[in-house]
Amino acid sequence: MTFKPANNIQDLQYFGEFGGVNPSISDSSTYTFLSAKTMFDTFEGNADGCYLYSRHSSPSNLYLGEALAAMESTETAHVTASGMGAITAVLMQLCAAGDHIISSRTIYGGTYAFLKNFTPKLNIETSFVNITNLKTVEAAITPKTKVLYCESVSNPLLEVADIKALSEIAKKHNLKLVVDNTFSPLSISPSILGADVVLHSLTKFINGTSDTVGGVICGSQEFINALRNVNDGAAMLLGSTMDSLRAASVLKNLRTLHIRIQQHSKNTLYLAEKFESDGLKTVYPGLKSHPSHELFKNMMNKQYGFGGMLTIDVGSLEMANKLMELMQQKNLGYLAVSLGFYKTLFSAPGTSTSSEIPETEQKEMGLSDGLIRFSIGLDADIERTYTMMKACMRELKINLKD
Ligand SMILES: *Cc1c(COP(=O)(O)O)cnc(C)c1O
Repeated sequence: MTFKPANNIQDLQYFGEFGGVNPSISDSSTYTFLSAKTMFDTFEGNADGCYLYSRHSSPSNLYLGEALAAMESTETAHVTASGMGAITAVLMQLCAAGDHIISSRTIYGGTYAFLKNFTPKLNIETSFVNITNLKTVEAAITPKTKVLYCESVSNPLLEVADIKALSEIAKKHNLKLVVDNTFSPLSISPSILGADVVLHSLTKFINGTSDTVGGVICGSQEFINALRNVNDGAAMLLGSTMDSLRAASVLKNLRTLHIRIQQHSKNTLYLAEKFESDGLKTVYPGLKSHPSHELFKNMMNKQYGFGGMLTIDVGSLEMANKLMELMQQKNLGYLAVSLGFYKTLFSAPGTSTSSEIPETEQKEMGLSDGLIRFSIGLDADIERTYTMMKACMRELKINLKD
């Protein structure tokens, strides 16, 4: 595949009001009109280039949305105040009472909780399936199914979804395939592979500085228009609007995403290979031992690698906690949830980001107690990081080869 998503971002040009090399920030919630007629037309969505009120749209949010749409190769995009703001708006837009969703069972804890506990109150039911088993996916479809939902690389187990095959199933049964691409921006382009809607939590790699939450919905112009409809659009009416100042700040960080992802991927592959050869149970899509290694290779935009997330299993939650605390003492990273920061972040998913998932279900999907999820940072000297991490493991008497 020769798709080059970073070129599409780079080719966009925006200037500020005074010729600034960055677009001006629209620091206003409301906009004036010279004529009342134009105001009416704008409200009705019939006056291009005019702004009315910043929950509807604002120049800064549109710039960021355009850049993210260019990255994901969709017609357009809508930015939101958080990743959950994007996910909930999309699902509320696509489903009504009585509808059914098929979702991967290994998904972000918040998304899981929304589908498991919240949407049933609206009479929207979800079947959670093993997304890597296409037969199971297709067998779960009912006449009420509207949406097929997955993450390209899943949280926290790093399962890889076969987006092309899922999109064929979706097309055959007239479903919308919605893909959360938060773990693999630039590396995987779900829309090119057939996804109808691509979502991100901008909070993670895309913004990359752990200073804000944000989200985006990338899709067709028709779908984004529907989300923004003043009468029945979920994005418009649920009100999860990003602030213009933040949109401008995220856009500036997006400019370096291609460099950051390459470094995250390089560092993560290095550590994954070392950990695995030390005899640790290591999961990383870049390892040949990963069940979907070949699938990821076939889907990926090669130059961005296999991403910045890896997991290891150190046997017990107690050991996982000890190791994370020790690594933090040695300044190798932070015991924190979230991902995509310049610094390595680690957490034990079972007791943190996936704690919404009941223990029995965690076991079923292979989420073990001793699992540590790493978001590997931009370390300049990953060999040194590895040596120091290994010393921590030795100090705690974790069983390593030789
Ligand atoms: C963090 C995350 C979300 C939620 O995003 P917020 O910005 O925290 O609302 C959704 N999906 C995935 C895969 C995530 O990692």
